[in-house]
Amino acid sequence: MEVIELTKALISCQSVTPKNDGVLDLLEKDLSNIGFDCRRYLFSDSNTPDVDNLFAKIGSGAPHICFGGHTDVVPVGDIDAWSFDPFNATEKDGKVYGRGASDMKSAIAAFVCALKEYIENNELKGTVSLLITNDEEGPAINGTKKVLEEIYKNGEKIDSCLVGEPTCPRKLGEMIKIGRRGSLTTTIKVSGKQGHVAYPEWTLNPINPLTSILDALCNLELDQGTEDFPPSNMEIVNISSSQGATNVVPQTATGVFNIRYNINHTKDSLQSMIQEIISKSNEDGKYKIDISFNNSAEPFLTQKGKFTNIVKSSVDEITGMNSALTTTGGTSDARFFKDYCEVAEFGLIGETAHQIDENVNTHDINNLKDVYLLILKKYFA
Ligand SMILES: [Zn+2]
Repeated sequence: MEVIELTKALISCQSVTPKNDGVLDLLEKDLSNIGFDCRRYLFSDSNTPDVDNLFAKIGSGAPHICFGGHTDVVPVGDIDAWSFDPFNATEKDGKVYGRGASDMKSAIAAFVCALKEYIENNELKGTVSLLITNDEEGPAINGTKKVLEEIYKNGEKIDSCLVGEPTCPRKLGEMIKIGRRGSLTTTIKVSGKQGHVAYPEWTLNPINPLTSILDALCNLELDQGTEDFPPSNMEIVNISSSQGATNVVPQTATGVFNIRYNINHTKDSLQSMIQEIISKSNEDGKYKIDISFNNSAEPFLTQKGKFTNIVKSSVDEITGMNSALTTTGGTSDARFFKDYCEVAEFGLIGETAHQIDENVNTHDINNLKDVYLLILKKYFA
């Protein structure tokens, strides 16, 4: 099958972020051969590597559906633990093994092959494009976000986006994602006064207020979730203090926590809530407390309607499942598309993504191609 061959060819490029190792050339050549207009976008920024991206387009006018994907992969980890060479895709017992098999080179191959089949047999009444970045697993600074900014500057308009991330937990067809939670990381640094543990009257221990702030935050019930979202969730990810000894009260203590939040909150509402808890704990101003926020994603939800119905009915028809429209999991580049168009995500099983011996069923890759083909047929019907 052509789709398996293309999957293997994509996996054989060692495209660990930010290096693309020819993977975008390979795609560009394939898409150019079937009439796509391909444009490459190499972006640079301070303190982050340069990254190459591909925007390929065929047809004209509305409706315009864009496939969003990434060719970069995470590092292989302990190479000796792999059963097969992670960059020489191997088929065994109906599975393809290799880095990027699940996340998400097979899905790109599936979409490209579905497209070829669609274009061969139908007259395209609208536009199909692929926005493929090599910066999704990394900092995501020189990737999808900048390509979208650039193509919109040049007058592009996308109506709907289908992201090919692996969305299914165990079986193909279980899950379609129509939104994602936001992600806010907060760092709190409390400065006290270092000194001898035997003389508390001469010291100010920064760990005390830090732990009570974190405790207050941990005990908050942020919300109970919505029809489409699980409850917002806070996790402490790091607590540390300045180096000392067992008889020294440290000078500073730092806590870091991440909140995955749904549409009941905004980054501003969460930040003011956090700030209020911190000010309350330090009413006498004894401690110096520095707070820094990094909001890497805003929550979003695609309105259920024609597009989500097309995706769901195509998935269900091909896989025989009754797929769920969900918002679970981490962030993806859907967070950038959502500022421009409606977006839904459907791809393979994500269970082995980023793992040693990453693999997917060849049968699932073929079915995914059929799902994508049916989506195209219904989208342009
Ligand atoms: Zn991915």
